[in-house]
Amino acid sequence: MSGAVIVGGGIGGLATAIALSRRGWDVEVLERSPRLTALGAGLSLWSNALRALDALGVGAQVRARAREEVGAGIRDSRGRRLARSDMAAVRARYGLPIVIHRADLLDILRAALPESAVRTGISVTEVCTDGVVTHSGSRETADLVVGADGIRSVVRRAVCGHIEPVYAGYTAWRTVLTPREPLLDMGESWGRGERFGFTPLPDGRVYAFACANMPPDAEIDGPSELRRRFGHWHNPIPSLLDAIDPAALLRHDIYDLPRLDTYVRGRVALVGDAAHAMTPNLGQGACQALEDAVVLARHADEPDLTDYDRERRPRARMIADRSARIGQVAQLSSPPVVFARDLALRAIPALAQVRGLAPVLDWSC
Ligand SMILES: Cc1cc2nc3c(=O)[nH]c(=O)nc-3n(C[C@H](O)[C@H](O)[C@H](O)COP(=O)(O)OP(=O)(O)OC[C@H]3O[C@@H](n4cnc5c(N)ncnc54)[C@H](O)[C@@H]3O)c2cc1C
Repeated sequence: MSGAVIVGGGIGGLATAIALSRRGWDVEVLERSPRLTALGAGLSLWSNALRALDALGVGAQVRARAREEVGAGIRDSRGRRLARSDMAAVRARYGLPIVIHRADLLDILRAALPESAVRTGISVTEVCTDGVVTHSGSRETADLVVGADGIRSVVRRAVCGHIEPVYAGYTAWRTVLTPREPLLDMGESWGRGERFGFTPLPDGRVYAFACANMPPDAEIDGPSELRRRFGHWHNPIPSLLDAIDPAALLRHDIYDLPRLDTYVRGRVALVGDAAHAMTPNLGQGACQALEDAVVLARHADEPDLTDYDRERRPRARMIADRSARIGQVAQLSSPPVVFARDLALRAIPALAQVRGLAPVLDWSC
């Protein structure tokens, strides 16, 4: 039996371990954290990701713990519609996206692997292209090494040297909160250099997120900054802000990974954010990690991994570029430019938006 070492126990690493083990590989996931944890926030998964999860045998479990996203659209800060998504057409054409708590997704993926396949508290320090992995003072050799170790990947160095992620110009807050009153509405509202979104989770809690232009590593108090920026926006945003638990508020500056020349070298392959960390504007980072997992497993027995690279790199790049462009438009801040943007958004027919999703969502395993 061939053996694979997977560095990183996030969505990409666990999904790849499942995909490989379903093809008869002996897998070992090395995760540096003492426990497998998912930062407490929601995650949108589109139909392409759901097809990948079906291929991993966990699609039904994921759907059972998720909620369909039925009413997304874009509003302005006063709640006036800028763009309406035709979700009936999305459902008919691609299938609806779902939203799930990250911890639930990670639980499902973890449970699909044997207990012994995941080793936590192991930090990988170096990987060589012949399959040698160095961690916490010891070494092992694998037939395949998978770098699923996120945007600041150590494994990526073996594949393409040092690559520095680039700051996108905005920061993002995420949280899961319990609203004072049940919330059925969902969507995203755009202002000038800032936006706020919310969507209910299956258990009645709400996943809320916000983005704002600012320098990286800005030292600000999250809850008061959110109240200052969004406290006067349309309902239910002020009451959602009141329900935020400061201890459960996450903040991440948003980075994009520059284009890599390859995702593979020797017996080492990159998946997920290690290969193509992207801005979150399309909700596709984890979806692409799930696609990577399925495709890599399909090519893993081949003498070299170049077909994996050929199949995945152009697609992930196309999606990362689209996501970055959406972020640039969403984060526009100059008043006349924002006025023109909002007019343009109102003019886009809903059906054109649906058709525009095809290159991203028309993917099959
Ligand atoms: C604000 C925001 C919102 C988002 N929303 C969505 C969304 O709605 N839908 C979507 O599809 N995507 C979304 N994404 C993107 C998504 O979160 C990522 O693309 C996805 O989590 C990447 O998974 P990964 O497994 O590749 O990397 P990670 O989740 O970063 O996991 C990497 C793992 O490797 C471990 N690790 C790192 N270094 C080492 C080492 N040296 N040794 C051992 N272990 C190591 C880490 O501890 C970690 O557990 C969003 C991202 C952000 C920032």
